[in-house]
Amino acid sequence: MTDSKKIIIAIDGFSSSGKSTMAKALARRIGYRYVDTGAMYRAVTLFAMREGLISPDGVVDAGELERRLPEIAISFALQPDGTQHTLLNGEDVESEIRGMEVSNRVSPVSAIAAVRRDLVAKQQAFGRERGIVMDGRDIGTTVFPDAELKIFLDAPAECRAERRVKELQAKGQQVSYDEVLANVKSRDHIDQTREESPLRRAEDAIGLDNSSMTIPQQDEWLMARFAEALEKANS
Ligand code: C5P
Repeated sequence: MTDSKKIIIAIDGFSSSGKSTMAKALARRIGYRYVDTGAMYRAVTLFAMREGLISPDGVVDAGELERRLPEIAISFALQPDGTQHTLLNGEDVESEIRGMEVSNRVSPVSAIAAVRRDLVAKQQAFGRERGIVMDGRDIGTTVFPDAELKIFLDAPAECRAERRVKELQAKGQQVSYDEVLANVKSRDHIDQTREESPLRRAEDAIGLDNSSMTIPQQDEWLMARFAEALEKANS
């Protein structure tokens, strides 16, 4: 059997649209590496918060953060249960980066050009050998414009907020629906209107509104798109 060429799968979309659930399941099934780029922006945000680079009213000291970017190492550690945890300078920060404090600060940090340049370069290095599923906001447009399969996920903000509340509550975090909905809407707005690689659908991306799909249905849909893209890449 000849080795089939490995491809890059870019999954972009709005906050809490289910990108990572879908991306992780596909990566596990096809034996590709999964990279959660949102976790990388969240880890940089946590660093900035801890180092006092964000004022209480949310203003980020962009110059100082840019100067200190070389101090930030982000990696992922595979857990015995098959999940992946994010490490910031070797420390497991998985739970902390998912909380509301980081969620409320991450979009302004992600809008800083120097932060994006740094993380995009790291993301491109992860995909050098292809065989990767990456999710985020600008993967199909900026990180891998040549990805063989691009998906753009969307669902109404109310539906995304409801899912996110359930997810956070299952992790023991006390959050209200209104607080999460406001956060989802605010991140959507900042992500779409920032100057540097704003969130938008790549022209060659396949759109999916998954609001009335179950997770297994969504996984099957993605698997079918993967099979088509792989066949095309190897033909
Ligand atoms: O995907 P997640 O919701 O964890 O991402 C957190 C935030 O990181 C987003 O709201 C966005 O501001 C930023 N982000 C980004 N570009 C990416 C991934 C995430 O700007 N590729």
